[in-house]
Amino acid sequence: QVKAEGRGASQFYRQEFTHHLNARMNLDDELEKAVNRQEFELFYQPIVPLDATHSIKAEALIRWRHPTRGLVGPFEFINQLEDSGMIVELGRWIIRTACQHATCWPRVHGQAPEVSVNISARQFRFDDLVGTISAALSDSGLPPEKLCIEITEKLLMIDSDATLATIDALKALGVKVAIDDFGIGYSSLSYIRRFQPDNLKIDREFVQGIDTSEYDQRLLAAIIAMGDQLHISITAEGVETGLQRNYLHEHHCGYIQGYFYSKPLAETEFRLWLEHTAPAVVASPYWQPT
Ligand code: C2E
Ligand code: MG
Ligand code: MG
Ligand code: MG
Repeated sequence: QVKAEGRGASQFYRQEFTHHLNARMNLDDELEKAVNRQEFELFYQPIVPLDATHSIKAEALIRWRHPTRGLVGPFEFINQLEDSGMIVELGRWIIRTACQHATCWPRVHGQAPEVSVNISARQFRFDDLVGTISAALSDSGLPPEKLCIEITEKLLMIDSDATLATIDALKALGVKVAIDDFGIGYSSLSYIRRFQPDNLKIDREFVQGIDTSEYDQRLLAAIIAMGDQLHISITAEGVETGLQRNYLHEHHCGYIQGYFYSKPLAETEFRLWLEHTAPAVVASPYWQPT
């Protein structure tokens, strides 16, 4: 097909490729400027425990406050930050900033909130992650058990020996480890056995199935039962409806994260949420947004 179209076509592909390459180089430049101008910001999304004796958590989610485009989400730049290696430097900033923020958050029913930070594969490979994290903890004064790192199965797949050593060292510090987007990768069970995470975050693809599929409902109940056996807490991601929340509650899912409770919030707004909304949310498992 391509051959039949002759020179014109291959030239077209070449132009497309060059165009693509230029776009990537421009974005690299832009991202580098954004780092220098400190245009990145951490938002926080509440993670609500269904058992009031456990503390509230929050996931740090990166945003780019672009001078003309407004707030830009990670899907538009996170891969590029990883490919260019910029995620290593920015990732250190993310860890330090999240730890500093978390030490300033008010307690909810006497419990200090916990912060959860996404760590990319690159940071594992090219940063001294244990050094970065222990420095962030001691500089901020955040207790290690109030920090959780979220890693994906993709990372576990790529580099497992070095990753395992790092994860073990982080666990020895007292930091918690969560497997993010659980269920959509490969060979999940072998990673659980090997890395023994504290928490599994079930991808929202499964959670949204609660509304429509009895099979998905039972799959979730089975994952929760597995977590129970292995002492791994389960977080359901992407919970949007009261129906989903109620189902998860009835099946003793540990934590719920999603638009049902709150979208990711700027840090000052998240602090207000902790003060004004969180106490009621934690007190009643059947709390409804007004
Ligand atoms: P993730 O770690 O799985 O984060 C959850 C994503 O689901 C967030 O998207 C969040 O805004 C979104 N979400 C939460 N609740 C709901 C819901 O009820 N419905 C729907 N439809 N979506 C919901 P976001 O903030 O766009 O982040 C996307 C991904 O970018 C994250 O997925 C994570 O993989 C990556 N990311 C975000 N921040 C960082 C960061 O600081 N470092 C690294 N390495 N990656 C990050
Ligand atoms: Mg995450
Ligand atoms: Mg996730
Ligand atoms: Mg996800």
